[in-house]
Amino acid sequence: SAQKETLGFQTEVKQLLKLMIHSLYSNKEIFLRELISNASDAADKLRFEGLAKPELFENDPELKIRIAFDKDARTVTIADNGIGMSRDEVVSHIGTIAKSGTKSFFEQLSGDEKKDAHLIGQFGVGFYSAFIVADKVTLTTRRAGEAEAVRWESQGEGEYTLESVEKAERGTEIVLHLKEGEDELLNDWKLKGIVRKYSDHISIPIEMKKGSGYGEDGEVVVSDELEAVNSASALWTRSKSDITEEQYQEFYKHVAHDFTDPLAWSHARVEGRQEYTELLYIPSRAPFDLYDRERKQGVKLYVRRVFIMEDTEKLMPHYLRFVRGVIDSNDLPLNVSREILQESKDIDAIRAGCVKKVLGLLEDLSSNQPEKYEAFWKEFGQVLKEGVGEDHANKERIAKLLRFVSTTSEGVEPTVSLADYIGRMKEGQDKIYFITADTLAAAKNSPHLEVFKKKGVEVLLLVDRVDEWVTGSLFEFDGKALQSVAKGALDLGALEDEADKEAQKQVEEASKPVVEKVQKALGEQVKEVRATARLTESPACLVAGEHDMSAHLERMLKAAGQ
Ligand code: ADP
Ligand code: MG
Repeated sequence: SAQKETLGFQTEVKQLLKLMIHSLYSNKEIFLRELISNASDAADKLRFEGLAKPELFENDPELKIRIAFDKDARTVTIADNGIGMSRDEVVSHIGTIAKSGTKSFFEQLSGDEKKDAHLIGQFGVGFYSAFIVADKVTLTTRRAGEAEAVRWESQGEGEYTLESVEKAERGTEIVLHLKEGEDELLNDWKLKGIVRKYSDHISIPIEMKKGSGYGEDGEVVVSDELEAVNSASALWTRSKSDITEEQYQEFYKHVAHDFTDPLAWSHARVEGRQEYTELLYIPSRAPFDLYDRERKQGVKLYVRRVFIMEDTEKLMPHYLRFVRGVIDSNDLPLNVSREILQESKDIDAIRAGCVKKVLGLLEDLSSNQPEKYEAFWKEFGQVLKEGVGEDHANKERIAKLLRFVSTTSEGVEPTVSLADYIGRMKEGQDKIYFITADTLAAAKNSPHLEVFKKKGVEVLLLVDRVDEWVTGSLFEFDGKALQSVAKGALDLGALEDEADKEAQKQVEEASKPVVEKVQKALGEQVKEVRATARLTESPACLVAGEHDMSAHLERMLKAAGQ
């Protein structure tokens, strides 16, 4: 064979490998799920590229995955006839981490194995999980339609070798040379069990040699005949009653490249003007790149079982960018491209339907599983809030899902909904009062709250960056106006009684000379100086004009250099 090259792993890969092997060891079986998941993705990619270039199938159109083991050589082999990789692809995909958020991921690692295992799970270890059980991995691959094959080999310790080889079949073959002590994997029953447990949902057959009886040692004797170990039908096409909770969860890990179980999901076949199946998941944790414009993951679009693309823009609105899963259309053309997707009215209809499903799922959580909803809100609340400004059609529904901290909250967790607030409104109160500030402490100590405290009126404390956008787009809820307590003359309406009015009159009269002096001293710096009977502790406070920017927003814009 041609000359062997030795290359070094990216520093992060070395670090990741070391950590992963330690922290995921107790869950080591997942290496098989990861390698099968990659093989399945490779089949999806070939099917898609094959739409335009059928010659890529090379007279071998039955896509499948094969798993075998060799007791004497102490190896486990996972092979697929998917798209394969060119030499450049091997170098860039296996040996480097091109993921966005890599840096912040490494910064978050604590050295505490339990905590780090969680983080690593979120980050996704994929291919490298092979090194949990193997001390040498040999990957041989030939990209569909190309002549040259390449062999990558590594002991997972900082470098790998690359060489050109011959490979008749298209696709990728991965040989795991097992570590000392991993011999239990050299067992037909054990491997088939792992495949069924983690990879049953894979839509192409995962084949292994068929058992033909038991030997004298009690072990399965295999024949040369192959059988599919999994159900080999796309999970979302099966009926809900045939899918177990675990299967839904494992499928999520495959589509989302996540290690943690999802929080909730919605699975439905939709009929009508557009026929499609959706299986959409809410993750239990926010991904690293939630705020990264370059993020690559989103919802996968299939057309009649053929994977078309993973989309981050068109299938889900920006404020639901955390949603993962599959949409499989029966009506779209197979040659749908990104450009067509942008323009398509059919896609608009599918998207609108899927948004309703997701909002419905969240509503269901919020009313029936409040703890889960709280967990959701913690991870994704800030993002969902963007929807109030972004999605006019669903503004009301989103507003119902919002949660805030208020002056009645015991702790710092946002648990107050607008409906809760309205339910607690005082006699004569007709507005939803809120205050915006940089921190909870600043909000709670604001002099603007004094009169509300005195009257026992609840005020929402809005301290998130996105809240300015929320209050700038949501003017009322359930017929009640949202009113900043820091703006304008603040008409308290029926909350104010005769005594209040009398007190105000007196203060105004008594303070006339002072007010005039202060007005003179401040001159152009203020619009107006007013006396008020509402402050109970503070001598003075700043108020924004009814139609001006709030002081908080002004500070935020200044900080942003605007
Ligand atoms: P992920 O699957 O999340 O992208 P992995 O570490 O599992 O991360 O895989 C890295 C990349 O290596 C894949 O995205 C793919 O491009 C490539 N790859 C891995 N396994 C295969 C395979 N069997 N066939 C083709 N490409 C593969
Ligand atoms: Mg993978």
